[in-house]
Amino acid sequence: MSSVDRQLFDQVMVPNYAPLQNIPVKGQGSRLWDQAGREYIDFAGGIAVNCMGHNHPALVAALTEQASKLWHVSNIWTNEPALELAKALTDATFADKVFFANSGAEANEAALKLARRYAQDHYSEEKDQIIAFKNGFHGRTFFTVSAGGTEAYSQGFGPKPGGIAHSVYDDIKELESMISDKTCAVILEPLQGEGGVVSPEPEFLQQVRQLCDKHNALLIFDEVQTGMGRTGSLFAYMELGVTPDILTSAKSLGGGFPISAMLTSSKIAASLKVGTHGSTYGGNPLACAVALKVLELVNTPELLEGVKAKQALFVEALNAINAKYNIFEQVRGQGLLIGAVLKESYKGKAFDLLKVAETHGVLVLVAGADVLRFTPALNITEEEINSGMACLDKAVAEFVAA
Ligand SMILES: *Cc1c(COP(=O)(O)O)cnc(C)c1O
Repeated sequence: MSSVDRQLFDQVMVPNYAPLQNIPVKGQGSRLWDQAGREYIDFAGGIAVNCMGHNHPALVAALTEQASKLWHVSNIWTNEPALELAKALTDATFADKVFFANSGAEANEAALKLARRYAQDHYSEEKDQIIAFKNGFHGRTFFTVSAGGTEAYSQGFGPKPGGIAHSVYDDIKELESMISDKTCAVILEPLQGEGGVVSPEPEFLQQVRQLCDKHNALLIFDEVQTGMGRTGSLFAYMELGVTPDILTSAKSLGGGFPISAMLTSSKIAASLKVGTHGSTYGGNPLACAVALKVLELVNTPELLEGVKAKQALFVEALNAINAKYNIFEQVRGQGLLIGAVLKESYKGKAFDLLKVAETHGVLVLVAGADVLRFTPALNITEEEINSGMACLDKAVAEFVAA
């Protein structure tokens, strides 16, 4: 056994996380092994990050090939992988321009700053209101966490960035009553991930688009969780009939290597002039080389259709578990972003079930206290799904008997 263990965490790490006892050390596809050699099926995918599973040979090759060429040059120079990735992302989406950063929060930070600048450039300094949504999640920088819809996350850190209002998700009347010509941007997730795997009515997003157009406000889609094939299309907006002005991507974009991107049109991008914004690591060659390969692997009809087929397998298996144990009120979501909502009598216990599931060899996530969440690799196999669901079945049996 290694000389490091979970106890060391409490000695040397800031206590903002409370990780489980077992420490994963190796992965292959959608399987993981911990220090003691125990095997797990991974239905968590590093929180919608490891979209091609662990240790994918093409990603290992992309990373190691770049690792022997060039790691970093800063943004005083550009680099080939960043240009190739930006070209591929603009070819694949509505966008003309890309800004690279390192995390979802930073991509959203850039999006919000850009929206403020754009409003100043084209309208007035008074046009500074950002409307976000309750239960939304946009990251943990102070600006993005203040835009997020969980107040507890932004409290206790002193004065908050101002000019942010929160509307009710999927309630167009509420948004209509708040939005005005003072609004510079509306930011939302096309499907709320952390907030409980909640899809709005399709008309809601179309109506949000119309309200933004009416008031010259930019529409920002935070696709940090829903993007890169997660819902069965490259980005969720592509199937919704609504095109945002700014889109942010992270999580699956790097398949496990940290990278994020903000995508927009040339007209809007022009407001982030030289010197207005930046990031030392943004556009790092290692990250961009990996993400370029991820994009190439994800953006194929076979993989994207596979996501829908695998969603059906997940939903079928969860319904079968529910038929035996009567534990879920609803199974919902899009593609491989799936939420199983616990019944009234189990409310508040999603994390307890996550822990029992781990002891039975399957890693799952929660979204809030009542929802079990699944964000596996998009290339998870039918065999891996079946094995994981057999583990989950045993875990649920123990959980309901407790
Ligand atoms: C995870 C997430 C973020 C934050 O990403 P980080 O990489 O943790 O900064 C932002 N928005 C959404 C929708 C997310 O799911």
